[in-house]
Amino acid sequence: QESGARKFKQQHMDSNSRHLPNSNYCNKMMKKRKMTVDACKPVNTFVHESLTDVKAICNQRNIRCKNGQNNCHKSRSSMRVTDCRLTNGSRHPNCKYRTSPAKRQIIVACDKNRVPVHLDA
Ligand code: 5GP
Repeated sequence: QESGARKFKQQHMDSNSRHLPNSNYCNKMMKKRKMTVDACKPVNTFVHESLTDVKAICNQRNIRCKNGQNNCHKSRSSMRVTDCRLTNGSRHPNCKYRTSPAKRQIIVACDKNRVPVHLDA
């Protein structure tokens, strides 16, 4: 499997969390998924839907990504997500995050194999 697809799953997929996340969710998950190793990644979204449903977003029409490339796609339906945002004053290696559950459409970038490799919004 290509590294982009593997990294997307590592950083953004958490399909099997069935309950609302508790306030420690992001603190634990950002560390477990290796986004606090060299620095604290400031913003990251976890998606609580099946990989099949997230991959299917790649079949939606192409739209422009924030970086100007045109390989982004917006989910048709809103998805269960958790937003993780670094708190003010949090210092590496003590990365502390605010955990915010939400439901919204997401935008992913897909590669030539039509699998998600980046979460754009
Ligand atoms: P801010 O609110 O800090 O100005 O920007 C946060 C941005 O990050 C938003 O535009 C949001 O859509 C985007 N964002 C949310 N989750 C992720 C993610 O997991 N990865 C990336 N690259 N951007 C994200």
